[in-house]
Amino acid sequence: SKKHKVTVVGSGNWGSTISKIVAENTKEHPDIFEEEVQMWVYEEEVTITEKSKHYDASKAGQKHKLTELINTLHENVKYLPGIALPTNVVANPSLQDAVRDSSILVFNLPHQFIGNVCKQLQGHILPFARGISCIKGVNVTDEGISLFSEWIGDGLGIYCGALSGANIASEIAAEKWSETTIAYDPPPMDNSRNPTPRNRSPASSTFDLSITPVDGDMQHKDARGRASKTKLTPVPNEYPPLDHETFSQLFHRPYFHVSMVSDVAGVSLGGALKNIVALAAGFVDGRGWGDNAKAAIMRVGLMEMVKFGKEFFGETVSTATFTEESAGVADLITSCSGGRNFRCAKMAVERGVSVEEVERTELDGQMLQGTSTAREVNSFLRARGKEQDYPLFTAVIGILDGKYQVDDIPSLVQRAAHIR
Ligand code: NAD
Ligand code: 13P
Repeated sequence: SKKHKVTVVGSGNWGSTISKIVAENTKEHPDIFEEEVQMWVYEEEVTITEKSKHYDASKAGQKHKLTELINTLHENVKYLPGIALPTNVVANPSLQDAVRDSSILVFNLPHQFIGNVCKQLQGHILPFARGISCIKGVNVTDEGISLFSEWIGDGLGIYCGALSGANIASEIAAEKWSETTIAYDPPPMDNSRNPTPRNRSPASSTFDLSITPVDGDMQHKDARGRASKTKLTPVPNEYPPLDHETFSQLFHRPYFHVSMVSDVAGVSLGGALKNIVALAAGFVDGRGWGDNAKAAIMRVGLMEMVKFGKEFFGETVSTATFTEESAGVADLITSCSGGRNFRCAKMAVERGVSVEEVERTELDGQMLQGTSTAREVNSFLRARGKEQDYPLFTAVIGILDGKYQVDDIPSLVQRAAHIR
């Protein structure tokens, strides 16, 4: 029987951390996965800084290709310095080569770049591949709003789930315990293909042929339960099934606990929208208002997140995903405590400069998702005359654009109490 080959598309702070997790697990489950994990790296010339385990003052300032450093030093010296990557993570500067023959594609890069990356992938992936999107953002176009999992799935003709949670990468890279949520909900036949219990050897498996779909027979379903135009190609029977158990084995670590759910929209929206709220938390903290103000921001933010999900993604979105899963309230709390969006917004207010300026000077190439998500969500709401129904989201874009001050937040948000 065949094994799943895994590619992580992206190698930033979180992309490198997820590659570490996945590579530890492919080594531990050689019956299911090929040991080597491909990691696509957006190639750049970098220098080794003091944050790296391999810093050498006599060679300071020398430039190297990032992929070559990762493959020789087993450290992403630019985006995850100080952390040893497993030797079975292989950095690859060629996108098309990195995904060749991979049946599992893990998308993990800032949402700004996914459109261009997916275009380059079209026609170069296995037709029966399945995806997991770790991207925190939403896709807003003239036609409306969609999740990156849906958009990747439709664009590449595959099914794509979502991973999101209270997951500040540096803590997880240091193997400090955290939880995450993975939403994976392909059409039912994708999972029921092989009903054999896992502890039986493949040789003694019995396949229920009556439910084995013919190639291209499965109707693709999007995160809102609607039938999509894409016909899914089933995972061939010689591969282990791509179901909740397999994805749990790929991502669960003793320090990274996975909860598998089916609410792809709720999980994706939790990760995207909390970035807007984290900016607001940074604004009030930077203003010196303390923990009560931050808690008020989180309360209103959570309400707007649930309302947005229900209003625009339909009743399949579960409120419980926001209130009970790591991808909901827990991510909101950690992001409003130590996330990059929070920290940069706080510094911006303290220094009297823009958030973009802090991002440029402090993050060394890492990227905020909150500023662009705030703008994208606002343009979506404005086009529908709904800005007033989401006063905190609207306050955040207003502050980013200089239309409002942090001091305006209490009265803007006060209106939310009346709307309710
Ligand atoms: P990052 O901000 O650390 O790094 C930026 C990445 O973008 C780098 O890998 C860089 O090579 C790449 N890049 C730059 N220009 C590019 C281009 N033109 N085309 C393609 N790639 C380019 O990235 P990250 O933290 O890994 O973020 C990826 C996703 O993970 C985001 O959606 C983020 O919200 C999410 N996330 C991040 C964390 C975290 O703590 N870092 C935690 C959970 C989720
Ligand atoms: P930041 O991108 O704001 O650092 O948030 C990281 C995150 O998503 C934590 O779960």
